[in-house]
Amino acid sequence: MSNDNSNTSMISLGWDQHFEKHFEPYSPDGLVPGRVEAEHRNLYRVVCECGHFSAEVSGRFINSAVSRGDYPAVGDWVVMNLLEKEQKGIIQAVLERKSCFSRKAVLSGGMPDTGGKTAEQVLAANIDTVFLVSGLDNNFNIRRIERYVTVAYNSGATPVIILNKADLRDDLDECVSEVQEIAAGVDVLAVSAASHAGLDALQRYLAVGKTVAFLGSSGVGKSTIINTLLGEQRLKTREVSGEDSRGRHTTTHRELIVLPGGGVVIDTPGMREISLWDDTGGLQKAFDDIEAFARQCRFHDCTHESEPGCAVQAALADGRLDAARFGNYVKLQKEISAFAIRKDKQLYRQTTRERDKKHRRYFKEMQKVNKKFRER
Ligand code: GDP
Ligand code: ZN
Repeated sequence: MSNDNSNTSMISLGWDQHFEKHFEPYSPDGLVPGRVEAEHRNLYRVVCECGHFSAEVSGRFINSAVSRGDYPAVGDWVVMNLLEKEQKGIIQAVLERKSCFSRKAVLSGGMPDTGGKTAEQVLAANIDTVFLVSGLDNNFNIRRIERYVTVAYNSGATPVIILNKADLRDDLDECVSEVQEIAAGVDVLAVSAASHAGLDALQRYLAVGKTVAFLGSSGVGKSTIINTLLGEQRLKTREVSGEDSRGRHTTTHRELIVLPGGGVVIDTPGMREISLWDDTGGLQKAFDDIEAFARQCRFHDCTHESEPGCAVQAALADGRLDAARFGNYVKLQKEISAFAIRKDKQLYRQTTRERDKKHRRYFKEMQKVNKKFRER
C-alpha cells in the first residue's frame, strides 16, 4: 500500500486508521487486507488493492474459531494470503469490527463445526450509518420505527431514519416531527425515491470510505433508493463483476458496492430481514426517555406496574410519556428476554450434549484401561 493510487482505492473501500492499526501485526508476513463483498456457503468474494478474489478461510482459522460469529461476513476486513496463480485468497484473520449486525438464533447447517458454543451469525459488518427506511404510505408505523432504532443501536452503527414516498403525503412536517419525537438525536429525512426529492441529503452520510446499509420492510423503496444512488454506474458494476469472476464463483453477486460518488453500500438479504436480536443496550438508547424516568422510581427494581413512587407511571399519568410508546418498550423488552431464555435453553442443551459426549469418551477410555489392567 505504498503507492498513492491504491491507497485511495483502499480508502474508498472504507480502510482507515482503525483497520491499519489492527492490521499492523500481520503486515510483516506478506499478508494483504481485503474487504468481503459477498459470502456464499463459506466461499467469499474479497476485494483488495489487487482486484477481486474468491477466498476461503484457512484450516487454522477454522480451528481457532469458537463461534459462527468469528467467521467473515460481508463488510468485514480480512487478512489473506493471495495465491496469484489460482486467483484465490486464503483468509487468515478477520480484523476487529467497528460495528456489526448479527442474528443470534438457532441456526443449523452451512457452517463447519465451530463447537456449537454460540449460534451468532453476522449479517453485515463495519457499517457506519444504517438507513432505517419506512414508507410514508400505509407502511408508516411509529412503533416499527422504534423497533428499528433499537436494532440499529445494538449494532453500533448510527441510525438515520428515512421516510420514503414523500410524494404521497402533504403532511410531511407532521410526519417528520412525530418521528423526531420518538427518536431524539436521530436524523430524520423525508425523501421520494420516485421523484428524487430530498435524496441529496443522503450524500452527507456517503462520504468517501463511509459505509451505509439499509434496513426496512419489503416494499418501502430500499432498492429504488439504492439504484438511484448507483445512477448509471449500476450496469458497469455488474459488468465488472462478470468480467473478473472466475470458475465456480461466477454466480456470487456482490453485496458491497462502492458508489460512483463515494461511499459504500452494503445490501445483503439477511440485513433486510433482520428481526431477532439480543440486546446490548440498544433498548436503553432507543428509549432513553423512559430509562430516565425509571431512574427516578423509588425502587431500583421497579417494574413500573403498580409500585408506589413509580416515576414512569407518574409520567404516563400526566402525559409526559406516551402510553403507546411505553407499551412498545414493554413489548420489545419482553421479546428480548424471551429470546434470551430461548438462547439459554439452547446453550444448556448444547453443553449437556457436549458433556455427555465427553463422559462417553471418558467411559470408553476407562474401559480400555480396565481391560488392559485385567489382561496383565
Ligand atoms: P424494497 O422492497 O424496499 O426494495 O422496495 P422497492 O424499491 O422495490 O419499492 C417498492 C415499490 O415502491 C415499488 O413499486 C416502487 O416503485 C415504489 N416506490 C419506491 N419509492 C417510491 C417513492 O418515493 N414514491 C412512491 N410513490 N413509490 C415508490
Ligand atoms: Zn417505576
